[in-house]
Amino acid sequence: MRLQKFMAQCGVASRRKSEELILQGKVKVNGIVINELGFKIDPINDNVMVNNRKIEIEKNKVYIALNKPTGYVTTLSDELGRKKVIDLVKNINERIYPIGRLDYDTSGLLLLTNDGELAYKLTHPKHEITKRYVADIKGIPTREELRKFKSGLNIDGYITAEANIKILNSNKDSSTVEIEIHEGRNRQVRKMCDKIGHPVITLKRVSIGSIKLKDLRLGKWRFLTEQEIEYLK
Ligand code: URA
Repeated sequence: MRLQKFMAQCGVASRRKSEELILQGKVKVNGIVINELGFKIDPINDNVMVNNRKIEIEKNKVYIALNKPTGYVTTLSDELGRKKVIDLVKNINERIYPIGRLDYDTSGLLLLTNDGELAYKLTHPKHEITKRYVADIKGIPTREELRKFKSGLNIDGYITAEANIKILNSNKDSSTVEIEIHEGRNRQVRKMCDKIGHPVITLKRVSIGSIKLKDLRLGKWRFLTEQEIEYLK
């Protein structure tokens, strides 16, 4: 089977995009980079890797990191007709969906997959993966407010789990803070900041566990590496 056809069948990308990946030297067959478009492979016995991730027809699981811009919803449909993050991920044949959510006004790291088992695990309330955010908030929190934020706040009748907050920068009217939480309740960071009297101005998620945005540009996506996938599982 031609390499690009195999890649398309595994849900990596369309055939045309697969050809681009081949020409970019991102595809290895049995450990050797192949940048020849007509290359033929044995779909059963050959080991094909794209961006160092092994692909297989039977297990065409897709794992993606997206740098979500503000002004996009993470739901798969929107009754108000707003822009959807899923439309930013083109040329993927698989039916992928976001793991968890980010608010319309929040930017940053969003994971998408077609691996229902992993999505379920990561969004389960008991799952304690650390999510790190950078936020601009109104005013400058006092020590006492920071302490309260860390030790637990009563929000909508539940007490938030231990969290972290660190001031990175502040000026007269606002502060930039780094926040770490281990839960993922609806608008949790915004509600926690409201609760200590310092509403969020802008909010960006920079990492989920060891998976980081790094230099992924706004609105762009990449496949997770094999290592990152293993880490999540
Ligand atoms: N917390 C929020 O308040 N909003 C997000 O989008 C993510 C976490």
